[in-house]
Amino acid sequence: MARLVKDIKRIALIAHDNMKEGLIDWCMQHKAALELHDLCGTGTTSRLIQESTGLRVKSFLSGPLGGDQQIGASLAEGRLDMVIFFSDPLTAQPHDPDVKALLRIAQVYDVPIALNRSSADFFVTSPNFAREYEYEPHMVDGKKHKGRG
Ligand code: PGA
Repeated sequence: MARLVKDIKRIALIAHDNMKEGLIDWCMQHKAALELHDLCGTGTTSRLIQESTGLRVKSFLSGPLGGDQQIGASLAEGRLDMVIFFSDPLTAQPHDPDVKALLRIAQVYDVPIALNRSSADFFVTSPNFAREYEYEPHMVDGKKHKGRG
């Protein structure tokens, strides 16, 4: 079934601990664009963004306690359109398997996922990010894969 990314984008925000300050700064920089959409995030990230920027961000569980998995499940169920994930490339994470699972499911459903600030900058300035644009992703075709679909 084709999914459509509608005018109001449903965006998940996640940052590992060393990257939280950078994501808050990025949210502040792009506040005007972000407040036009529906925001959510892992527990600590969403709380800090709300407190620091005034943006409304719905909270999932904290990442290490299952928040990344909740976001992955939401992608699979078509309840999220985009992920901004400032992940830490230099620090081992206890929930690394959950992070990998989230990246994989984003690939399967062709969900845009920005893993660093430059990518996030490109996302937010893309014409497709604007309220007036819709976008149809190109999902992996499960039926073409042996034993799937
Ligand atoms: P947190 O989770 O926002 O609850 O810190 C982020 C993560 O590490 O996945």
